[in-house]
Amino acid sequence: MELSINSMIENIISPPIQNLQGYKNLVVDVLRLDLIHPTITGNKWYKLKFNLLAAKKNNIHTILTFGGAYSNHIFATAAAGQIFGCKTIGVIRGEETLPLNPCLRFATNAGMKLVYADRTSYRNKHTVEFLTALHEKFGEFYVIPEGGANELAVEGVCELAQTLPQDYDLVICACGTGTTLAGLRKGFGLDTKIIGIPVLKNGEFLYNEINQLLTNELLQKNYTLLTNYAWGGYAKTPTELLQFITDFTVKNSIPLEPIYTGKLFFAVHDLIQQNYFKNQQKILVVHSGGHQLVVNN
Ligand SMILES: *Cc1c(COP(=O)(O)O)cnc(C)c1O
Repeated sequence: MELSINSMIENIISPPIQNLQGYKNLVVDVLRLDLIHPTITGNKWYKLKFNLLAAKKNNIHTILTFGGAYSNHIFATAAAGQIFGCKTIGVIRGEETLPLNPCLRFATNAGMKLVYADRTSYRNKHTVEFLTALHEKFGEFYVIPEGGANELAVEGVCELAQTLPQDYDLVICACGTGTTLAGLRKGFGLDTKIIGIPVLKNGEFLYNEINQLLTNELLQKNYTLLTNYAWGGYAKTPTELLQFITDFTVKNSIPLEPIYTGKLFFAVHDLIQQNYFKNQQKILVVHSGGHQLVVNN
């Protein structure tokens, strides 16, 4: 089977940078990763790229990964596998619920095999026992961790960051696993401060994860996590947040969703109100995607 990574890469457009008007003492740009491809959107492509190449290099034609039933990472992996011509297996946390939700329906239609794991097995998903049982069933596969969080994912985001203008004072992104932030930290010069907005409760734990992903101590610098924009935790959608998203979308024609980018842009807006940024600073907000285009095929 011939994997068409090069034609795949050609289908990805480089992300446009859009200036947000109306901030008189600041330059606020948005990196529109949501526009790079119809289905492999946002940060997920950059996190997958070197993993797909590594699988190919090792002659492995099946990718296995993990996620919740609404995971953008599962969605993007299924899409990439289909376009790429490699098989995909998604280990989904929890029980099967029929009919499948739009994310899992998309994944299945894209050829992904779904395996369900109860909470206990899911917690042990990276153990040898769990993976051995899956190998017995599915043969050889390349494992990408939950949320695509590994060093090759950091490399993909790092590579992207190196193609961007380097004169930003601050770059700000939403954080799930912190992998995207780690890649930005690695790719931008240390003069650029990276700010992460964790979407999970008690996001301080991410410092550890991010430092581990960055490996090199010299890189574990000039980044910070603002942990008070999680709105009570993952997938919590208070009315005030939803209202902000609606207003922002109408005003700027940039789609946001409540899990990641809504919280991110709310944080940016709030920080500007609080004069967190200094006069004339140049800020890049990373729109990491998150809209699952549901094709009913
Ligand atoms: C997955 C995802 C993130 C989180 O990225 P991490 O690298 O896990 O921190 C942010 N935004 C969107 C839209 C995502 O789908």
